[in-house]
Amino acid sequence: MSEEIKNKFTPKKFVKNPIKVTKCTLMISSAKGGVGKSTFAVNLAFALQNIGKKVGILDADIYGPSVPRMMGISGRPKANESKKLIPLENYNIKCMSIGFLVDVDTPTIWRGPMVMKALEQMFNGVEWGNLDYLIIDLPPGTGDAQLSLAQNSKLTGSIIISTPQDVALIDARKGINMFKKVEVPVLGIVENMSYFVCNNCSERHEIFSNGGAKKEASKFGMDFLGELPLETNLRIQSDKGHPICISMPESKIAKSYMAIAKQVHNNINK
Ligand code: ADP
Repeated sequence: MSEEIKNKFTPKKFVKNPIKVTKCTLMISSAKGGVGKSTFAVNLAFALQNIGKKVGILDADIYGPSVPRMMGISGRPKANESKKLIPLENYNIKCMSIGFLVDVDTPTIWRGPMVMKALEQMFNGVEWGNLDYLIIDLPPGTGDAQLSLAQNSKLTGSIIISTPQDVALIDARKGINMFKKVEVPVLGIVENMSYFVCNNCSERHEIFSNGGAKKEASKFGMDFLGELPLETNLRIQSDKGHPICISMPESKIAKSYMAIAKQVHNNINK
């Protein structure tokens, strides 16, 4: 990368003007991909909406923007007179995603500067209106993009999603340390895919082990926000663009998301 490009996109220059329109900005993070971070981000949005909050979602997962699909939204955002992008909306939740701006297969081959430029536009160039909560779905990992975002946006805090097994927890620890370094409070850890209850025999199976995230939380003196089971309906509804907190609000897992949202909201406001 040339020095000129490097300087143009150094993290310090990035997101100078943090999102102002939102009362709380929460970053949803996982150090590993595929652990259910985006699913959590989307359902947390609906769970917060369920307690009367105005919520928006910013899908910053440049490597796999899955929020549009989970939210059942497609299309290209238009710009308003002040050249700000107008978020797309479904179920009364405003959403901006890198997936709206480029072909979904493209971002994986982006280089650093392009990634930074796109993220910069999504952070500073979106007309969110007034929100109580902006939820940011962060790309997995603890690289440059994650550090820049965490360092330069005015955040209320982050929530870390992990699965229970050791290989995931090793990475979750890296995530916790990254947030510590940039002084972003970690609001808590959630254990996803904690267990599976068989539809036929009702027996509980701990496929990826269980309880690891809780132990990790207590080791770091952080809140453990709850465990979420492996649940077939969650995956089916997500794939259809019907988040489970909207399509099956009475299900056990939707209630778990709602309990986590209340806990997060109460902790922030106490
Ligand atoms: P990440 O954002 O961490 O990459 P996703 O949220 O995209 O992960 O989830 C990856 C896949 O796992 C998706 O197909 C999603 O529907 C599924 N998934 C996530 N959490 C659960 C769960 N608790 N039970 C069943 N499937 C889940």
